Amino acid sequence: MKIIMLGAPGAGKGTQAKQIAAKYEIPHISTGDIFRANIKEGTALGMEAKSYMDKGQLVPDELTVKILLDRVSKDDCKNGYVLDGFPRTIPQADVLDKAVSELNDKIDYAINVDVKDDNIIRRMSGRRACLNCGATYHIVNVPPKKEGICDTCGSELVIRDDDKEETVKARLLAYHEQTQPLIDYYNNKGILKEVDGTKDMNDVFADIVNILG
Ligand code: ADP
Ligand code: AMP
Repeated sequence: MKIIMLGAPGAGKGTQAKQIAAKYEIPHISTGDIFRANIKEGTALGMEAKSYMDKGQLVPDELTVKILLDRVSKDDCKNGYVLDGFPRTIPQADVLDKAVSELNDKIDYAINVDVKDDNIIRRMSGRRACLNCGATYHIVNVPPKKEGICDTCGSELVIRDDDKEETVKARLLAYHEQTQPLIDYYNNKGILKEVDGTKDMNDVFADIVNILG
């Protein structure tokens, strides 16, 4: 099964994608996580991506598409994957479409996790991230067992550099201009599914499982 998660930054794509990956035994692929891992390791790719991410802008398509195509060509993607944060532009979606068609395959579902902007700003200010294992928490909605420490791997939790309020506003602008058009794109392909991302995260997941079967 090949699944794309759509939605504004902070809508809960990652939270849901991790659960989908566990239940359906497919890899969870987050381009944001790949960039953050590269930033942590100090690679050239990471340094370039950071210059855009810190401003709340999208990383250029050329760079992003390359890392995504590399990742989905790995063996563990043979039975599918759940993409979180890719595609974010129409050209990215076209490249993915072409790559999948060349394998005589298709994307099964594009799930749009719908959350309005005011709600997003509240969520992002409480998000805490583990840069070691990729786990995500929220200081009110999903607190870790021990404050500031990842339940899964014991690393220290951080506020992402791009979760500052001003950067979140820039990210929302980029979302509306460049990513939101993908909702129509996948609707026209007949694979768009909408879920209400403002519900409790377990209820959002139950709605997704209803769709995926
Ligand atoms: P995205 O991957 O779309 O950027 P995340 O999955 O990281 O979003 O979620 C953003 C923040 O909102 C996190 O702090 C997460 O714990 C919290 N969150 C996710 N889903 C919900 C939900 N249904 N209700 C409340 N908070 C949520
Ligand atoms: P995320 O972790 O999905 O919220 O992504 C964090 C940041 O990484 C985004 O604000 C972008 O700067 C960059 N990024 C992640 N995925 C993409 C993508 N598909 N295209 C362009 N930039 C991306």
